Amino acid sequence: MELNKILEITAEIVNEEAAQVVEFLYHNPGASEFDVSEGIGFAVSQIRSLLYELKSKNLIDYDRRKDKEKGWYLYYWKVVPLNFSKVYMNEKKKKLEQFRERLENEENNVFYICPNFCKRLSFEDSLEHNFTCPVCGTLMNEENKSRKVEILKRNIKEHEHFFMES
Ligand SMILES: [Zn+2]
Repeated sequence: MELNKILEITAEIVNEEAAQVVEFLYHNPGASEFDVSEGIGFAVSQIRSLLYELKSKNLIDYDRRKDKEKGWYLYYWKVVPLNFSKVYMNEKKKKLEQFRERLENEENNVFYICPNFCKRLSFEDSLEHNFTCPVCGTLMNEENKSRKVEILKRNIKEHEHFFMES
């Protein structure tokens, strides 16, 4: 997979900062967190958390070596280009499932919303409060969910389309 695609995927499923880390590692395999920090100018603590997140998604890996003098382990990171398309597919699949669940939840439930936007409650919860807002006491209205449902349906269609094409 070419670098541009790798960076695009990283930005989509993690974030832009992570894409910068991946770009640096791609050009400097075996870099330590300190090298990355120096290379792209983020704090070491931020680099560390980005590295852990990328590692948890299997987009990067490390070699660990013990520093004989100090006795602690040093980590040398590298990108694993082969994993990107599988990880991306799985993330898309997860997203599609989440959208479907949310759509089902929206379609099967009625929500009540405060006109001052303090609270959004399920039918059961708003019944318990006699359909008045527990924060400000105003009468709550049934939420118009058509816009939300429309957006969810569009997202689902886009994701299904993605799987049909790939
Ligand atoms: Zn309210």
